[in-house]
Amino acid sequence: MTDSFVVTVAATEHLSPNLRRVALTGESLRAWESTGKADEFVHVHIPGDNPADGWEDDHDIARHYTIRRWDPAGPSLVLDVVTHGHGLGATWAKTTTPGDTVAVSTPHGYYSPPEGSTRRLLIADATGLPAVARILEEASPNETFDVLIELISTDDAIALPSPATVNVEWRVSGNGRGPSALVSAMGRLEVPEGDTYVWVACESAESRRARAFIRDSWARHHSLYRIVGYWHVDQEEQLKKWEALTDEQKARYLEIWDENRPDEVNWLELEPYLQELGL
Ligand SMILES: Cc1cc2nc3c(=O)[nH]c(=O)nc-3n(C[C@H](O)[C@H](O)[C@H](O)COP(=O)(O)OP(=O)(O)OC[C@H]3O[C@@H](n4cnc5c(N)ncnc54)[C@H](O)[C@@H]3O)c2cc1C
Repeated sequence: MTDSFVVTVAATEHLSPNLRRVALTGESLRAWESTGKADEFVHVHIPGDNPADGWEDDHDIARHYTIRRWDPAGPSLVLDVVTHGHGLGATWAKTTTPGDTVAVSTPHGYYSPPEGSTRRLLIADATGLPAVARILEEASPNETFDVLIELISTDDAIALPSPATVNVEWRVSGNGRGPSALVSAMGRLEVPEGDTYVWVACESAESRRARAFIRDSWARHHSLYRIVGYWHVDQEEQLKKWEALTDEQKARYLEIWDENRPDEVNWLELEPYLQELGL
């Protein structure tokens, strides 16, 4: 995710009380290539008040957003952003208007059901809803999805068109307004059968609890699930804890995350190390 594409806001739209769509366009996108993974996301580089702010490699001004839709003919990218509160990304989504510019990176995605499997279980909070919507939209008719989504309000339950067979359960909890109830809701589900692919995207601490639950209670092979932490409920606290680590501790963390093995295998080693560090 190193290249940077300068794009212009083409349109914005309120999809629901807490979800705003931002469509981006620009000739630079002719060189942008989709990964083909339905949960692919980019870094969006949002310039601050200082016009000297750079576009690239400045993580103070970059946020991750899912590519809800990609139209190479446009070319255009669509993002759906949760307008949760005071964050740079949320504020940008609430206030940006056509003609504004931002930069986006090349994409990266995680959603990879094993070949031949047709059953899926998708679990997400509001930030994972754009990926869920795209996964369902791009699914094939022979797939069957059970979907559990935690929202800020029932008014955020958008339509989820799909050629597949889809059973959706909406619930209102978490999303920074209170404790997430995703893992406790998982505990009430039947154990996913056979090669059902489980994909989870939500707040990071809850995502780690979901991973522990899946390992302990559902005992699945790592190729049959992918869990991604999308945001931190205690973001500022987490950053302070990270900054307080020694160089050796940071280096050990980076060493554990081996790009040559599956992410969920990395997590087997990373989780106990994070706990040891108090993260
Ligand atoms: C792979 C990936 C894909 C993502 N896709 C999307 C997407 O399509 N749409 C989307 O809206 N988000 C998505 N996210 C999540 C998004 O990147 C984070 O929510 C991000 O922190 C938002 O930045 P911000 O500037 O608004 O808030 P920050 O500046 O990061 O945080 C400011 C404060 O807001 C809190 N906060 C951050 N996010 C939320 C939230 N969602 N709800 C409540 N409180 C919050 C933090 O704890 C902090 O206290 C994705 C994340 C990842 C990793």
